[in-house]
Amino acid sequence: MAKWHRRKFGASLFLMPLAAKAFQPIAAAAQFFAAGGRALAQTVLPPTCLACRKPAGASGGLCPACWQGAGFIERPYCERLGTPFSYDSGGPLISPGAFADPPVFDRARAAMRFGDVARDLVHLLKYGDRLDLVKPFARWMTRAGDEILCEADALIPVPLHWTRLFQRRFNQSAELVRAISRQTKLSVIDDVLARVRATPPQVGLAREERAKNVHGAFSIEKTARLRVKGKRIVLVDDVLTTGATANACARVLRRAGASRIDVLTLARVVDPV
Ligand SMILES: [Zn+2]
Repeated sequence: MAKWHRRKFGASLFLMPLAAKAFQPIAAAAQFFAAGGRALAQTVLPPTCLACRKPAGASGGLCPACWQGAGFIERPYCERLGTPFSYDSGGPLISPGAFADPPVFDRARAAMRFGDVARDLVHLLKYGDRLDLVKPFARWMTRAGDEILCEADALIPVPLHWTRLFQRRFNQSAELVRAISRQTKLSVIDDVLARVRATPPQVGLAREERAKNVHGAFSIEKTARLRVKGKRIVLVDDVLTTGATANACARVLRRAGASRIDVLTLARVVDPV
């Protein structure tokens, strides 16, 4: 009986590579046709703008008008808040805003200003189910956050309350984190920080109201604290407005022992009103 088992086991072990080998040409053919299909689509259909669907200069990008309107953020900017300066004084600078009202997080970086283009793009991702936008967004964010990502241990997405997650079916920040992780090979900690209180949307609220709205909305379970202790974390979200949400998350992560908390967003409001 034992012999029979061994024979059967041995035979299946022997057959497995054969089966895999037999499958290889089929898989290769499938890959060939998929790649061919993509190439054909790229040849036949001109690349369109991610934001407005008009013809774009390069595949996977924006048309010239949207590119200009996106307002990609370049140096010089405030080393703390990531807000762009209109002039270059030649050295690392901290903005008066960062001195007057220092954030709880260490540094923030964003790919673009939150203007009409960024608003449309974020809206398409969150409410238009345009998950194809995640990859290019992550590419722009990885470039903008190069410095903070190089010095990080792990990525954490700003969590949604489960009721919001249920409505939207996905957390845009978690999707961005996954794509950034694929590009940077940084590990993801997405099951530690929780949104324990459903908060009304921040839109239309003043700075103080925003801070009050998210106060105590986030939490880390005591047993999960060890997973962030001593770690350099990059917190990821789609938009940074006044920084109230990022600060609320950073406060909880700081209490759990994270050694550094930087923030990376697709867009940020440059002059919050
Ligand atoms: Zn466009």
